[in-house]
Amino acid sequence: MGLGKIAASMRNIGCKMGVNRSINANFTEVHLRQAPLRVYYFLSRFRYTGFHAIFLKSSPPWEVHMITEIPPRSGAAFTLKKGQRLRVIDPNGEQVSDMLAFNAHDTDEVISSGRSLDYASKLFLTTGDPLYSNRSNVMLRIVEDTVGRHDFLLTPCSKDTFRIIYGDEHPHHGCFGNLSHALEPYGIKPDQIPIAFNIFMNVQVDGETGELKVDPPKSKAGDHILFEADMDLVVALTACSALQSNNYAFKPIHYAVEEGAAALTTEA
Ligand SMILES: [Zn+2]
Repeated sequence: MGLGKIAASMRNIGCKMGVNRSINANFTEVHLRQAPLRVYYFLSRFRYTGFHAIFLKSSPPWEVHMITEIPPRSGAAFTLKKGQRLRVIDPNGEQVSDMLAFNAHDTDEVISSGRSLDYASKLFLTTGDPLYSNRSNVMLRIVEDTVGRHDFLLTPCSKDTFRIIYGDEHPHHGCFGNLSHALEPYGIKPDQIPIAFNIFMNVQVDGETGELKVDPPKSKAGDHILFEADMDLVVALTACSALQSNNYAFKPIHYAVEEGAAALTTEA
């Protein structure tokens, strides 16, 4: 598909969405990604409040997903319904995103590192692996993963992380502060925050001594991980604030909520 046709489609969709004023083919960068079933066009430099880009599924019926940008050293929270999918993208490479999930109907049920690693009998989870709650229910399943290395051991970075590990006198509030702030509207308190699933975080474990080492993420620009929700969830995500975890540069994270495979099959 040529740029002209994409622009026409964007204008058409823009009309439907009431954002036509912003659709002026003001994109200077088009990323083409070939997925098994779909082709995505990433249209960057799309200036519309709160959204950095749009991506389109080429096969009919056309479906528009807004990609939301989480700016460097910040966070966001949103609901994800059972069957929906959450795509987390590292737009620049080497950027970690801490992810939390709570049962939307009872926020005492929360993602559990201990249960997930226990039932998987391994430290590094990837495509096909479920993420369990503290009540041993599956919350999310990893359905795609272009990186294959994420951490589920370490706590979200926080003021105390920066004070204790980095020796900062005036520490940043970190992922913990960003998660707390984003989850506040859902009635979730800071003390309810567990170990996050640290997307793209590359922690090396010495199998003999157990020593941990935080290396740069293996994610390259455009890499992603895709989750499918097994229950209605409140999800929180960050663009991580710890220097060492992100190869000493703070970058944004992109995410999109998509309809699940079951819904797409039904539509077809
Ligand atoms: Zn962090």
